Order: sequence, then C-alpha cells, then structure tokens
Amino acid sequence: MRSPDDWLLLLEEVPDPEIPVLNVVEMGIVRGVKSTDSAVEVSITPTYMGCPAMDAIADDIRSQLGPMAEEEGKSLTVDLVYAPAWTTDWLTDSAKDKLERYGIAPPGTTADKRALNGADPVVRCPRCKGKQTSLVSLFGSTACKAHYRCDDCAEPFDHFKCI
Ligand SMILES: [Zn+2]
Repeated sequence: MRSPDDWLLLLEEVPDPEIPVLNVVEMGIVRGVKSTDSAVEVSITPTYMGCPAMDAIADDIRSQLGPMAEEEGKSLTVDLVYAPAWTTDWLTDSAKDKLERYGIAPPGTTADKRALNGADPVVRCPRCKGKQTSLVSLFGSTACKAHYRCDDCAEPFDHFKCI
C-alpha cells in the first residue's frame, strides 16, 4: 500500500503540460493527497483561470496514477480546489531556477509586484542575466507568458507572468 508521500513522489513524475520541464508538484498545483482504504484523492488548484491545460493536467494525473491505484483496488479521484486561487508564489525555488535554465524568465513575487503598484519586477534575461529587457508582447507562446527581448544580447525569451 502506498502512503500519501509515495503518491506525492509519483505526482512529481507528471509534467506540467505547458511547461514540461516542471512537474505538477513544482508548479504548486497539487494541494494534497489522501489515501483511504478504497480511494486515492488528489486535490489540485487550477493555475491560470480558464487555462485549457487544466483538463490536460487532471487527465494526465488520472492516466499516470490511475492504474497504480487500481493495482491496490482503489479508485483515483482528482478534485479541483478553486480557493485560495493559485499564485506563482507557489512555484518552488528550484522550479524557478529550472525555468531560467530552460530559457524562461521566472515570475517575481506578488509581494514585489504589490510594492511596485502592480508593475512586474525587473525581468532578467535568462541567457545573459542582463536586466535591460523590453516587453515585446503581453502574450507569448501561451497566455501565461509574456514575450520579451533582451536589450543586451538581443535574445528573445518568454517571461512567466507573476500572478
Ligand atoms: Zn540577454
């Protein structure tokens, strides 16, 4: 019988559909795992409202963990928890480092953003770490990201927006 911690480790093998370099645990999507005699219950909080990836995440969790739950004679449910709302503050620090290595400028913190009256903190170029960068488009490859260009090395890159 797997413990809730074992299930959490298995969830670390489920990649985020939009940012495959991160798993759903690093993204801060997984709220908790309960394991009873008859069921494994995973609760997740959707990231960006209306992000089509959310259904994909629930489906991926069901298809990857479902067969293992079945082995133990259990059902697997994925519950969506909408409050409190997901925030990029829930990304782990290692997730932010990974994003930068992957070429995506990670989000700042919502506390910094509030201190700047809602403006995004300085977005650092993931390639040369330069701080002179310009917003090209509010929407990058997905609605969750904005498109930037570095003024120093001219590298175009996505910035994971802080929300
Ligand atoms: Zn640069």
